[in-house]
Amino acid sequence: MIGSLNSIPELCIWRQVENRFLILFIPSMKCQLHCSYCGWFQNLKEFGGDKLEVGRDLKWFEWLVAFNPYRPYTLEITGGEPLLYSDFSDLVAHLPWLCNWSVTSNTLLDVSNITNRNLNGWTASFHFKEKKRFFDNCKILTRSGMKPSISMVVQPDRVDEVEEYVKEFTEQNQSVNLLRELNPKVDWRGSKEWNRLELIRDKYPHVNLVDDDSIPKVYQFPIFDICTAGMNYFAVIGDGQVFRCYSDLVRGESMGNIFNFRPFTEPQKCGKPCLGCATDYRQKKWNEKMILEVGHDRQQQIITQM
Ligand code: SF4
Ligand code: SF4
Repeated sequence: MIGSLNSIPELCIWRQVENRFLILFIPSMKCQLHCSYCGWFQNLKEFGGDKLEVGRDLKWFEWLVAFNPYRPYTLEITGGEPLLYSDFSDLVAHLPWLCNWSVTSNTLLDVSNITNRNLNGWTASFHFKEKKRFFDNCKILTRSGMKPSISMVVQPDRVDEVEEYVKEFTEQNQSVNLLRELNPKVDWRGSKEWNRLELIRDKYPHVNLVDDDSIPKVYQFPIFDICTAGMNYFAVIGDGQVFRCYSDLVRGESMGNIFNFRPFTEPQKCGKPCLGCATDYRQKKWNEKMILEVGHDRQQQIITQM
């Protein structure tokens, strides 16, 4: 889904998390929809993560044990479609004190038994399919104290269609985050479609265009020498395999299993493309903060030691 993010169609909306573990939790790598612009499946295919062998899903109580050493933590739950995980409602209902969660979901599966306990935010990503069910589920969530924030991925050739939906959401007093498609061959730089989106944003009070910091304008990614991912942020999939970040997950490069891996105690070298997941993008900010904290000399020392 993530954040993303944009081609990464499912954006993890940032939430400020200080002095706690941020766990990007992907309980299901599958999705019942097959969106043509899906950045998740595109990236897995492109970078090799689709070759990962994935075992059985852990049960909700196994996750509570697995996550326990990282309390207090925030779960950023995404996918694939996270509601395909059969223990979803049990897991979020049993999160311990001071731990919280947020989710990005296409919001088309059953949401009636999900608790709002410790919820940070629900992002409902709309994918032009099953509109009635989507709206019905948004109403159920709102009644249960989980009013979702709606996001849509905009493909350059669907701007008119998007505006129609924006009108409809606006009539229902719903705000909408528009995420530009981020896939090979898509280039928003100086495009008339981007200008159109800016006009739509200016015309409708509840529309937000997600900015360049979260979604690149073209399918190109920055490379950082060094990064704090794997220290207080990591990604984990349904069978417990842990990855330093979303990007390493998409590359299929695991750090081990949730029951036996050890988070890094120090920033580590990276040097690989930092892909379009909003959670990884936040690393950019943490990296800047880390450079401020350890200083450039220490940063260089770490790089040369590796
Ligand atoms: S709903 Fe999200 S994860 Fe599923 S196919 Fe569409 S874009 Fe991909
Ligand atoms: S720089 Fe990006 S790709 Fe590299 S470890 Fe950090 S989050 Fe992952």
